[in-house]
Amino acid sequence: MAHHDSGSDAEEGTEALRLTEVRKTYGSAQNAVTALDGVSLALPAGSFTAIMGPSGSGKSTLLQCAAGLDRPDSGRVVVAGEEMTGGSESALTKFRRRHIGFVFQQYNLLPMLTVEQNTTLPLRLAGRPVDRDRAREILGRVGLGERLGHRPDQLSGGQRQRVAIARALVTAPSVIFADEPTGALDTRSARDVLRLLRETLREHGATLVMVTHDPVAASYADSVQFLADGRLAGRMTDPTVDAVAERLAHLGDLADEHAPVGA
Ligand code: ADP
Repeated sequence: MAHHDSGSDAEEGTEALRLTEVRKTYGSAQNAVTALDGVSLALPAGSFTAIMGPSGSGKSTLLQCAAGLDRPDSGRVVVAGEEMTGGSESALTKFRRRHIGFVFQQYNLLPMLTVEQNTTLPLRLAGRPVDRDRAREILGRVGLGERLGHRPDQLSGGQRQRVAIARALVTAPSVIFADEPTGALDTRSARDVLRLLRETLREHGATLVMVTHDPVAASYADSVQFLADGRLAGRMTDPTVDAVAERLAHLGDLADEHAPVGA
């Protein structure tokens, strides 16, 4: 029980991700761009959150910092009760391999590996035992039980993204980050993938943070967190496509007028 702060243990036990006053600026003094301007956020374990906002609002930077792919200039990122910020590059990589799963828009599968080998790769990278039964069970769950030996170029886009989902689940990470996971898919495959994501998350009790610009994709989440100008700009629970689209349009207005955010 080595907690580094005075937060309540019970609270931390149910929290998958916490950001505290995370700031990130790009460029040097004269042409500095503040991508994240003090973002604080806490996501419960088992939640499915969509991050939305206008282009340039800081969504990618938030994902990069929260997932340990980049470091904030200041602020803290805590994953499953453990602080991720600070420490060496190799410590960060180890932490990421143990705690974080990724699903990317372009799948990022290795073309020379089979479906099963792609799925178990994160275990091998982390130096963990490869539980093939578990990998096969997850692949069965995502509908690829008959394609274990196929290579990515023998699969459709939707099937490739299913492999990526299985790969993200195989290490039982504390948080899975998805960056426009349906951005490269046709409408129907996108819906299938989103439905599957939501179902498998529930079954595995996984926590998902999904960056998307698509209100349809966001409507599959439990809640949507809006960003504008590098700050949180409101949250919506049980989002519908129309409500999300309307709020997004309104966010654009707010950003243009430099109106105060936080509604
Ligand atoms: P979003 O994903 O919402 O489009 P980003 O996080 O990519 O937003 O960008 C937020 C702001 O930070 C933008 O103004 C963008 O131009 C700037 N930015 C992002 N990455 C870099 C970078 N590597 N160098 C300089 N500016 C950047």
